[in-house]
Amino acid sequence: MIRIAGWMASVYAPVGAFLLAALILSACTDDKGRLAGAMDGPACRAALAKDGAKFETVADFTTNSGCGITDPVKLTGGVVGLSQPAEMGCSLALAVTEFEQGDIQALAQRYFHQKLTRLDHMGAYSCRTVRDAKGRMSEHAIGHAIDISGFVLADGTRISVENDWFSTGPKRDFLRDVAKAACERFAVVLTPNYNLDHFNHIHADLSKWKLCGI
Ligand SMILES: [Zn+2]
Repeated sequence: MIRIAGWMASVYAPVGAFLLAALILSACTDDKGRLAGAMDGPACRAALAKDGAKFETVADFTTNSGCGITDPVKLTGGVVGLSQPAEMGCSLALAVTEFEQGDIQALAQRYFHQKLTRLDHMGAYSCRTVRDAKGRMSEHAIGHAIDISGFVLADGTRISVENDWFSTGPKRDFLRDVAKAACERFAVVLTPNYNLDHFNHIHADLSKWKLCGI
């Protein structure tokens, strides 16, 4: 019996350890991607206001085709400006705001000794399916994704994903580090390296999947 127990322990202990490690890993991954998602509702809007974001609260809505946003806000700017207002779930607005004020500001200082003054984007909420999948709704369709196309610094310098991702020099390095940092804050990050659909923007979302496509 002891021998059998010993045998079982030697076989099952590593399996158990592996499963436990996998569980912890998936929990961490999920937490990272969903961190801001846990703050939907008034707590999210309060955190957004505390971060200096300018936004309007929008009523929840759904469409006949299955799109819609729970707890939407229309983000119009903040400490860092936006190229155009964007409608999205509050959790995403908070993640974007904290990404700007944390990681991107620090990277702008490191690479250019400048402040980030504007984030350029190509939209957040959009009622559509994923381009490369059959009928699956995009995270954009529930206000959980944004397409970031570039950045403007205090001296007017513009850094664009389309022009600078495959260039050489500090703009390229800045963009690569921005994407790397995005993977820590968002669930899925897709860049020009991922596929041709993303040649001119970095897609960042708060889905339940984890993919760092940089
Ligand atoms: Zn996108």
